[in-house]
Amino acid sequence: MATPKNTPDVKSKKPIKKLPKKKTSKKKLPRPKLTRAQIADIYRHLQTLDPAPRTELHYSNPYTLVVAVALSAQATDVGVNKATKALFEAADTPEKMVALGEDKVRDYVKTIGLFRTKAKNVIALSQMLIDDYGSVVPDKREDLIRLPGVGRKTANVVLNEAFGQPTMAVDTHIFRVSNRTGMAPGKDVLEVEHNLLRVTPDEFALHAHHWLILHGRYTCVARTPKCYNCAISHICKFRPKTPGVDE
Ligand code: SF4
Repeated sequence: MATPKNTPDVKSKKPIKKLPKKKTSKKKLPRPKLTRAQIADIYRHLQTLDPAPRTELHYSNPYTLVVAVALSAQATDVGVNKATKALFEAADTPEKMVALGEDKVRDYVKTIGLFRTKAKNVIALSQMLIDDYGSVVPDKREDLIRLPGVGRKTANVVLNEAFGQPTMAVDTHIFRVSNRTGMAPGKDVLEVEHNLLRVTPDEFALHAHHWLILHGRYTCVARTPKCYNCAISHICKFRPKTPGVDE
């Protein structure tokens, strides 16, 4: 009887070929397509356009920043600001938010996507801040990501905006800009984050993520990037560039 396919031939005298051992070296990040000088040049141009960029989310203290950033997942900053104006007037501390209660929070944020889950998280994170952190927003990533509804990106925004730490909160805009320009290619947000941290010169590290977000939000937009009006188009590797109307 013929040996069925995929069944080892036990009678064969042929020595079993040893498979090469898998390398256990650390995973390599994709190489930037730009030189360090070119990357520094990109930051210099973005810095000239906006020397001290800040988040476009409205907040009055680190706590309201945490809540605003947590609410902003899959929502626009403009939409979040509309909802948080009244919410933060009613509650700008964890205690006041817990006293307000989930139902009322849900009413305030009902114009924002995923508002039911987000309202629940706002109450839960406020309670955890009261119980575990004396109502003070912690300044360490491992503490921030314990809070319900706070992921790595939200934690990075809070660390950067509230505590002046040079973090890189990679969102859809930064992911796109980093890959299109060739500054910090990566197939997922974590790869891009690590690559950006590696290639961003120290002097630009504090504001880097805001510059890249704003550039992606207003110029290097998702569908048709405005290459014809882009301050870094002479450096960016994206091809073909979007031409202006009279080009
Ligand atoms: S040249 Fe075009 S693709 Fe490159 S960063 Fe500017 S807008 Fe984006």
